[in-house]
Amino acid sequence: MNPNSALTGLIKRTQAQQQAQLLRRVRVVEQAQATRVVVDGRKLISFASNDYLGLSQHPDLIRALQNAANEWGVGSTAAHLLGGHRAPHWALEEKLSDWLGFEAALCFSSGWQANLSLLGTLLQQDDLCVQDRLNHASLLDAARLSGATLKRYQHLDIESATKQLHTTINDQDNCKALVSDGVFSMDGDLAPMHALSNLCKKNNAAFLLDDAHGIGVLGPHGQGSWAEQKLAAENIDGLMITFGKALGSFGAAVLGSRALIDGLMQFARPWIYTTATPPALASATMAAIRLVQNDANPRAHLKNLCARFQMQIRQIGLSSLDSSTPIQIILLNDATQAINWSNELEAQGFYAPAIRPPTVAQARLRITLSAAHTVEEIDLLCAALERLQLATK
Ligand SMILES: *Cc1c(COP(=O)(O)O)cnc(C)c1O
Repeated sequence: MNPNSALTGLIKRTQAQQQAQLLRRVRVVEQAQATRVVVDGRKLISFASNDYLGLSQHPDLIRALQNAANEWGVGSTAAHLLGGHRAPHWALEEKLSDWLGFEAALCFSSGWQANLSLLGTLLQQDDLCVQDRLNHASLLDAARLSGATLKRYQHLDIESATKQLHTTINDQDNCKALVSDGVFSMDGDLAPMHALSNLCKKNNAAFLLDDAHGIGVLGPHGQGSWAEQKLAAENIDGLMITFGKALGSFGAAVLGSRALIDGLMQFARPWIYTTATPPALASATMAAIRLVQNDANPRAHLKNLCARFQMQIRQIGLSSLDSSTPIQIILLNDATQAINWSNELEAQGFYAPAIRPPTVAQARLRITLSAAHTVEEIDLLCAALERLQLATK
């Protein structure tokens, strides 16, 4: 191979990761039953999944998927504009608009694709995109690809966001958008929704929200983090939600005004030039939304588990982040300690991966709770964490 080929450079960078002990690796899950997974032949209680309501294996979702597959087959066979947009996609979009109170919705294959589409369509060169420093990678990349000027503000900091919104790019009247995660995926905290929305109004900026981790879990009827904070839907110019987390399915949607959705259908290249998701997945997502709308018990159970976990790790004296969401963070001194604790937990039967720099500023265990967990499982994990804490002292 040509010694200057791109691959040679990649191999060097991979080796550098390895030397820094930052190599990422895929763990193959051999079996999964609710929160129990089998990895390397060992049965573990998983505290790593985003299946916050335990819906991914719910019989209603499985049946909806099977029935729709019988009717529609597997593939959607085409892009949305060329016959791939099937009745289940359309029905899901109607359901989403109705559930969340937006004029219109559009289905995407993934949250990553939805964010690329939303930001790439709204923003152009010379526009300004202001984002929380800790926003999801897809939002940051989407802004960069759009050609807009990306300015990041200090996490949750309205003053810092205000300053960034006042950035002048040239003398023209450019478009501005402020984008935030609803629930931050590596910290579990919530964006200050009202303050951000007001700031956008004052500065004539669009307010865009990524609620991948809030949908289904927070707010009345599981509508999300914005509903939890009692922000009205009309204050959000574009809402992105994913189906692969609490809804236990796969795919994503953008919600907003009719004008936004019409514009996306004209200009969102990642949506136009891709095969529509399998219609059976849309039917499974529909089944998940019905469950979320009709049964508040799993949400209430999950809330209890989160409060119980927070209380116990405080008692143990661990350094945690304040979180009322199923994303619970235990801060550790460095990457080595995070890896050691994660390995030690695994030896004791728990799957709780370490998250290290550069993904986050400070090494941590990211523990995600689910309505499928029992109180006993939470207590077992806390007992294991306490043993680790005592052994470290
Ligand atoms: C998971 C996630 C995404 C990506 O969604 P996928 O459907 O998994 O591609 C986008 N934004 C946030 C905040 C996420 O957590």
